[in-house]
Amino acid sequence: MKVIMAQAAGVCFGVEDALATTAGITNPQAVTIHGELVHNPLVQNRLRDRGFLVNSEDSRAAAPTSAQVLITAHGISNRERLRLTSAGKQLIDTTCPLVRRAHDAALSLAREGRFVIVLGKASHVEVEGLTGDLDAFAVVNAPADVRPYPSTKLGIVCQTTLPTREAQMLRGAIAAANPHADIRFVDTICRPTKDRQRALEDILRQADAVVVVGGRHSNNTRKLLDRCAEAGRRAWHVESAADLRRDWFLGCDVVGLTGGTSTLPETLREVHDTLLSIAAECQTAPQFATVGASQWGAG
Ligand code: SF4
Repeated sequence: MKVIMAQAAGVCFGVEDALATTAGITNPQAVTIHGELVHNPLVQNRLRDRGFLVNSEDSRAAAPTSAQVLITAHGISNRERLRLTSAGKQLIDTTCPLVRRAHDAALSLAREGRFVIVLGKASHVEVEGLTGDLDAFAVVNAPADVRPYPSTKLGIVCQTTLPTREAQMLRGAIAAANPHADIRFVDTICRPTKDRQRALEDILRQADAVVVVGGRHSNNTRKLLDRCAEAGRRAWHVESAADLRRDWFLGCDVVGLTGGTSTLPETLREVHDTLLSIAAECQTAPQFATVGASQWGAG
């Protein structure tokens, strides 16, 4: 069994910068992280162990008790920023610049008098931030969400981690449902997401199965898995090397490895090393060579 690693995988610069900011904080007990810094339980546990207070994503409406509040890379709306600063909170802002760019694009489309449509998941914190400063908007996550909108001038932006193929499909559905609308699309999908998606396409051309490493709540990890399923490849979602099961790989010739933008390099390395050990066992264990791949479904 051969193991191939995606050319681009794991943490993006936005997450790296946020992690570097937390590493430099010397008084974590005085800081509340406003939501999950990254959707990665390993990182979350380390932050809690260091003493950071964490407001879960569902409880962000509650006022943090600490004087300092750390805004995650997913960003927040200006209205939310004002709510926190008006309550006397000092903000430590790790909003990714590419999320800011998406906010700017949405606001600029609204200023042009366009009804803004955000392509993405309405309940995702980044989308909540993106829409939080808009008075009228729609969020579209699937073709079934598309409507004729109450304006002939529409503006579309994307959640930064949306797959390009989904964006194209949803744009088409919006245009079809609003045939007379003047539609302006701003591609706010971030470069690291595009790099990871492109690298996955390379893997899908070579591998018959894929391991995707990432947090269970990581949206972009989920999207990588969805793409594997769409391409007809077996794919397994693991959070760490401990989740790997040797019998998954019976009958596999080439296994691809990738990870979402919140997956640490050390986790990817551990998964990679464990896959290599499994591959070495495959060379020596006769049952690995004789059991057909069709017996093993996706986990
Ligand atoms: S996924 Fe993209 S937008 Fe989000 S933090 Fe990473 S680089 Fe920034």
